[in-house]
Amino acid sequence: MSTHNNTEGFSTRAIHAGQEPDPTTGAVMTPVYLTSTYVQSAPGVNQGFEYSRTHNPTRTALQECVASLEGGAHGIAFASGLAATHGVFSLLSQGDRVVLGHDVYGGTYRLLAQVMSRQGLTFEVVDTTDFEAVRAAFETKTQMVWFETPTNPLLHVSDIKAVCELARGAGVLSVVDNTFATPYLQTPLALGADIVVHSMTKYLGGHSDVVGGMCVTNDAQLDERLRFLQNAVGAVPGPLDCFLVLRGLKTLAVRMERHCDNAEAIAAWLGGHDKVRFVAYPGRSDHPGHEAAATQMRRFGGMISFDVDADLETATRLASSTKLFALAESLGGVESLLDHPASMTHGSVPREERLKSGFTDGLLRLSVGLEDIEDLVADLKAAFKTAFP
Ligand SMILES: *Cc1c(COP(=O)(O)O)cnc(C)c1O
Repeated sequence: MSTHNNTEGFSTRAIHAGQEPDPTTGAVMTPVYLTSTYVQSAPGVNQGFEYSRTHNPTRTALQECVASLEGGAHGIAFASGLAATHGVFSLLSQGDRVVLGHDVYGGTYRLLAQVMSRQGLTFEVVDTTDFEAVRAAFETKTQMVWFETPTNPLLHVSDIKAVCELARGAGVLSVVDNTFATPYLQTPLALGADIVVHSMTKYLGGHSDVVGGMCVTNDAQLDERLRFLQNAVGAVPGPLDCFLVLRGLKTLAVRMERHCDNAEAIAAWLGGHDKVRFVAYPGRSDHPGHEAAATQMRRFGGMISFDVDADLETATRLASSTKLFALAESLGGVESLLDHPASMTHGSVPREERLKSGFTDGLLRLSVGLEDIEDLVADLKAAFKTAFP
């Protein structure tokens, strides 16, 4: 058990929480415990580890570290963000109803619509930025509200405290997918959420080299049920994956500061470009969720979406013309990425529905990395010249 606690600063916890020098060798970094089983000194007598699906020391360190960063008591790690999501939905039973934020991660929607619904869960998609819509949706059968903020790709911001308070009053479990913000920028448990979920594949890992997921809660009963599911279903991350995320976490605070610096500068630059119709960045005062974001977030993150005033062909040309920004799905790594949601991450969303929820053929999404800002702006500038000759 770690001696580090939630009163220490964020960076201190990121580097030390859950991690003590290895007692047998003094190794400063948490060893990668590549073992499936553990010797017992007598039948049923062990040192807290019996079998690695159930417990693994590298995983324990990661769980304690992420829990500490989220200001939570319990972390439960999964093999991917979606495995963590599946774990949370598996708390529910046939006939239970989920209120789902209207632009959550596509895989979350797919899991509910195509897998959990066949097992009897029902759900309703609701705009969680609209307080009255959320209130109306909390009817008697609703057991859980699941939302993200800021969302993907339009970076809508929901008031976490308001939604969670409403949920608590209605006896509804509140779950926040905190992947985009990270605990460095916002901690939903402190704002009333029951469970926080992460795709550690993104900012927590931070180097685009590992897939992982995590649930964090302060509720001992939820912890027990999630830990039961973690072991009973078995979608656990391997020890090397846990090590990679632990390593990424050590620099989370400095990385997030730089992601925010670079994103703020690029949002400002895009805002002044005559071929850009709008810039979706919660840090801009013209963003509809700016006030809520300023209240609940430390800074505004590394994700930006913008709409170019052009047809699909021109937008595609722009997306294909950057050199530093790699055209790729995913986000949250040290390297800058560019995504054309209409044909990439959100290609499965019907065009009519896309347009209705406000994202056009000309929408581009940036995951702003840690490169030199001058180089990033120069890259975008050159790409605009190519797209708009
Ligand atoms: C990527 C992502 C997920 C899914 O995580 P995986 O690790 O890819 O399974 C869930 N939510 C958000 C917001 C994501 O960006």
